[in-house]
Amino acid sequence: MSTGKYEAVIGLEVHVQLNTQSKIFCSCRNRFGDRPNANTCPVCLGLPGSLPVLNRKVLESAIKVGLALNCHVAERMKFDRKNYFYPDLPKAYQISQFDMPVSAKGYVDIMVNGEPKKIGITRAHVEEDAGKLLHEGIKDGSNVDYNRTGTPLIEIVSEPDMRMPEEAYEYLTALKAILQYLEVSDCNMEEGSLRCDANVSIRPRGQKEFGVKAEIKNLNSFKAVARAIQYEIDRQTDSIEEGDTVVQETRLWNDAKGVTTSMRSKEEAHDYRYFPEPDLVPFVISREIVSKIKATMPELPRERQQRFVDTYGITVLDAAVLTQEKRLADFYEETVACGSDPKAASNWIANELLGQMKQRDLTIATLTITPKAMANLIQIINKGLISGKIGKDVLGEMFSTDKLPEEIVKAKGLLQISDEGAIARVIDEVIAAHQKSVDDYRAGKKNALGFLVGQVMQKTKGKANPALVNKILTTKLEA
Ligand code: ADP
Ligand code: ZN
Ligand code: MG
Repeated sequence: MSTGKYEAVIGLEVHVQLNTQSKIFCSCRNRFGDRPNANTCPVCLGLPGSLPVLNRKVLESAIKVGLALNCHVAERMKFDRKNYFYPDLPKAYQISQFDMPVSAKGYVDIMVNGEPKKIGITRAHVEEDAGKLLHEGIKDGSNVDYNRTGTPLIEIVSEPDMRMPEEAYEYLTALKAILQYLEVSDCNMEEGSLRCDANVSIRPRGQKEFGVKAEIKNLNSFKAVARAIQYEIDRQTDSIEEGDTVVQETRLWNDAKGVTTSMRSKEEAHDYRYFPEPDLVPFVISREIVSKIKATMPELPRERQQRFVDTYGITVLDAAVLTQEKRLADFYEETVACGSDPKAASNWIANELLGQMKQRDLTIATLTITPKAMANLIQIINKGLISGKIGKDVLGEMFSTDKLPEEIVKAKGLLQISDEGAIARVIDEVIAAHQKSVDDYRAGKKNALGFLVGQVMQKTKGKANPALVNKILTTKLEA
């Protein structure tokens, strides 16, 4: 087991596709899902004699990312060739950055179990993506789609600062939020616009030197990353406990089986023979451009979280939940703008709405409930027109209709009963029918009250105003 004796060391490498209009070194369209090979030209097909030209937007996005990750943006950067052969790489090399990346030495703030922690960023560099081999439905051999070649990527390499799978999960969540707020990438793991490899080693607690690491690939969700790391920690621990050594290798995560298996050892690792890309001269990144971009940086998740706490008076925890996804934070602010009380909106959205969305397998992107409808729901609850409990049911209805909550409530006759006379009549019936509970209460068994309140609520189908029921019932019992 992984507890006690050993400590894990984890570092992540994340590849993010930039959502620029065109590719990194040519003017082909950069778009997912088009007909295979529709978006290609001599440059991204790697034809001899073609020359790459750096897309200015890619550099701007890379600078934005560097700044958001608290990195130093380089004064000078250059590109290098990373050589390897694979059918999806027509040039037999990838243009990447080796010793002069666009930015380095930053950090990302995360929270783990309520504790803040900084995860160091070693570097964030720019490179081009490879194409894609298609195997499905093909009998002999494979087809290749070069639409993806030349898609701009940023590779973000973390320091080996993480110690637990949860930290890796939180780091990825925080990183994704930052990139989405910057609007530089969709960060969609299913479509491959965000990809992650995890490096894991273990060492005896208290030892300074790192152990030998394994690199895990084929991780297709943040949950998978955390599970794979935990599996790997356990595997390496068992291996050392049994007197074996951990070998440096690349391993593949099998999500269905929940295991990692060896893909290639260090001996089989590529020698990339990096050398400077002769077709692209080194770039000088003027401080003027950097400050210009700095001045136009959008509000980032951490800043928005703090602003929510300061201006809406909500808890840090709720603010963290609400700002994790930009669209959710927008939804919250629009609900408040539609006239909802900010604290009530925070409660309802961060807890009830997200909870019900999860049950229905919905994300904020696929949610059809509007901020206007959400605000209306909170308003009619706050006005006492319906109880909070009925509010939850109404919210459930809202997923499949575009009627406003006040219309749903009217149509279904769910309005809360706040007429004291009407409530008193139901209470009299309940008292008459449950004399034993009444006697119990009067004999000092105060929890008989809960039962009687429950009876009143049942008779009124949950519509009686609970505060009034309590008040009137207590008065009658103590009379
Ligand atoms: P490589 O040369 O194998 O690519 P790097 O030094 O470039 O290794 O590191 C790649 C990633 O692995 C980084 O995220 C780094 O933090 C992490 N890493 C490096 N050494 C270890 C280790 N011993 N245990 C866990 N992670 C490590
Ligand atoms: Zn092209
Ligand atoms: Mg490396």
